[in-house]
Amino acid sequence: MAIVGTLKTFKGGRYFPRLEGLPRGPIVEAPLPARVRIPLRQGFGEEPDLQVRVGQRVRTGEVIARSDEKISTPVLSPLTGTVVSIEEGVHPLDGEPTTIVLVEAETSPSGAYEDDWAPLEVPQGNFERWGPEELGRILYEAGVTALGKWGFPTVYRTAPTEPSAIKALLINAVEAEPYLRGDRALLYEEFEKFVTGIKILKSALGNVEVHVGIGYDRPHILAELEARMEYHDWLYLHPLLPKYPQGEDEVLIKTILNREVPAGRPAGELGVVVCDVQQVIAAYEAVVEARPLVDRVISLGGSAMARPANARVRLGTPVGDLLEAFGHRGPSRVVLGGPLRGNSVTDVETPVTREVRALVALEEPRSPSAALRWGFLPRTDAHVRLLPPLGRTKRATTALVGGTKPCIRCGDCVDVCPQNLFPFELAEASKQGDLDRAERMAIFACIECGLCSYVCPSKIDLLEDIRRGKRWIREERLEA
Ligand code: SF4
Ligand code: SF4
Repeated sequence: MAIVGTLKTFKGGRYFPRLEGLPRGPIVEAPLPARVRIPLRQGFGEEPDLQVRVGQRVRTGEVIARSDEKISTPVLSPLTGTVVSIEEGVHPLDGEPTTIVLVEAETSPSGAYEDDWAPLEVPQGNFERWGPEELGRILYEAGVTALGKWGFPTVYRTAPTEPSAIKALLINAVEAEPYLRGDRALLYEEFEKFVTGIKILKSALGNVEVHVGIGYDRPHILAELEARMEYHDWLYLHPLLPKYPQGEDEVLIKTILNREVPAGRPAGELGVVVCDVQQVIAAYEAVVEARPLVDRVISLGGSAMARPANARVRLGTPVGDLLEAFGHRGPSRVVLGGPLRGNSVTDVETPVTREVRALVALEEPRSPSAALRWGFLPRTDAHVRLLPPLGRTKRATTALVGGTKPCIRCGDCVDVCPQNLFPFELAEASKQGDLDRAERMAIFACIECGLCSYVCPSKIDLLEDIRRGKRWIREERLEA
């Protein structure tokens, strides 16, 4: 094992202060929901074929949809209950059409929800003897391959890249977006699983180098990893500055391997696969505990969350259940995902999916004059205002009062962009429908970190304009 460099970082980005409503303390279990909504399409790849019908009873972890021939991962039931509807809807994160399966929980005679798990088939003995094919099968059946931006490659078509093309596995253990604390909590509470999980993923990929990028502000974890992995010469530890968005695939690869991911292309084309802490631990749970992936740890926080926490939440749980359980108070804006790149949600039935790392509720300033009050940091952000410190923490509210103003060409968005783009020009080209210009300016190199929108003093939602431009270009390509 080698420790490589110290405090590496990248151009642009931003550090965030400690904010009020930060999730802390041990990971808690969120209450089991009465019903779950399960979108069949994963964050990448195609929608797998439905395997259930309305009225059918399903156990926790039972397959709801799968297609071994398509780039996909089986979709599993997060609850024991009955399929009550199958309908066309939209994915909560990208708004694109997908099939949604609604499962209602089954109750026992005592009134508690049943939780009858369908077992995952796992051989006996030491996983190190099973080989990449068997490990890949287990990760696929458990739903673990669906995590990450482009999935985890196995002999099944679970990612756009073949496993044999992968030469390096990067583990992202830097969580730098405000309010996101789930990986940090998992590292402390599930360290043994994390260490074994790294070995499992390495064995599943065969002969690869493994690089762990970890915030230097976690010295205990770094020291512990160093001690535990001392004799593994395939492992490289990289202490990194915890600057947002260090954990994004493209930024992590550039910082650790000094290689550029081609705009809009999967990292697998460079022979690299990126996993996060949660995926490493899920790999352990699948292979060692035969536990399918039906839940994940989510950070619930923000200035409008009374009991911020890192909670283990069943996938498909409605946002409204979590807001109620963790003491949401209004008026506020609720964001599914981190506050920089997440989506505002107004429908309390919106489900949590595998990609969701946080649910953040931010107070709305109560009157337009609030935006002018002394103490707001000027030129700080469009959507989140930071109030001056009271002790060591700051309060973040939304900054929706005041409305959007014209671009003043201050260049702040350019300074923070980790991809060296000109966000104001990309947004303008998208808004004007000049898609050729947007493409020439590398719109697909945008990793949608949301920092440009965050810093814009004119409150222009540049990320939204850029996302729209990308969507239009994709639609044009499909029609051509
Ligand atoms: S243009 Fe894209 S990558 Fe650059 S700051 Fe904006 S959202 Fe982030
Ligand atoms: S930060 Fe906002 S105002 Fe400044 S150049 Fe970018 S878009 Fe224009």
